[in-house]
Amino acid sequence: MNAAIIIGAFLGIIVSCRAEDWNYAAQGGDWCDAGTDLPFPKCCGTSQSPIDIDTSAVTYDSTLGNIHFGPGYFNEVPGMLENNGHTMVFKPNLGVDMSDHYFFDGPVADGITYKFVQLHFHWGTKNTDGSEHTVDGAQYSMEMHMVHINTAYDTFAEAKAAADGLAVLGFFMNIENVPFPFKSMANQSKKIRNVDTSTPVSVYLSDFFSHSPNMIDYFTYQGSLTTPTCDEAVTWIVYKEPLSTKQFFPRFLSLLRTAVGKGSPLVRNNYREPQPLGIRVVKSNFEMV
Ligand SMILES: [Zn+2]
Repeated sequence: MNAAIIIGAFLGIIVSCRAEDWNYAAQGGDWCDAGTDLPFPKCCGTSQSPIDIDTSAVTYDSTLGNIHFGPGYFNEVPGMLENNGHTMVFKPNLGVDMSDHYFFDGPVADGITYKFVQLHFHWGTKNTDGSEHTVDGAQYSMEMHMVHINTAYDTFAEAKAAADGLAVLGFFMNIENVPFPFKSMANQSKKIRNVDTSTPVSVYLSDFFSHSPNMIDYFTYQGSLTTPTCDEAVTWIVYKEPLSTKQFFPRFLSLLRTAVGKGSPLVRNNYREPQPLGIRVVKSNFEMV
């Protein structure tokens, strides 16, 4: 064996042990207890996400208003759709002014705004599973997460360390229901089947709402990122109604299911199992009927 092979093998071992190496083989159940060195100890916290939303235990809070969006939500955002081996993620291009792409109100304290950072997806291999949050034990075909950062913090690292640092808008999606913005994503996603590849896509963030007049009712609770390092910094806002309209979604979902992943051959079933609610309370801005 020559030196190059030995060095290569050595580097291979190091790469395979990098902290960011994780997968969904156990639906996240092994992220904090694999081995003795607790690679992601925060994933064993007491305020983790996702959760099962038990609608019989949800507390209606009449003081919770609607979410409101800044003007940037209604402008086109040029960005890249990337297969990062764990999901397909859309991020605005560097240099794009995102200062108006924020939301406020709802469960958010007065004077605080959360700015859009990225959106990504969780999906399954069957249409009967795929979402991370469940409602009364039932999964939807997919879940989209729009990740936002509290504009009071300068960096994502700083925000991850604060209880009010991040907010995620969660959207359920059913195979029968399809939002319009997925036309461009569906067209482009076939180009990025391989891990660590990306392709340009432009979206209007408001399109996820404007075609869905029922996108008002939401559940909210305090939780975490659903991927390592599982920081408990997230105000979750999970919309009750799945996204609706009928084009392009089946094609998009079938393409997602062929994406090549990290830690497994395909990015499939990239959802974490529901975590214990513990002493937390899930609130809603609507009365359960
Ligand atoms: Zn997510």
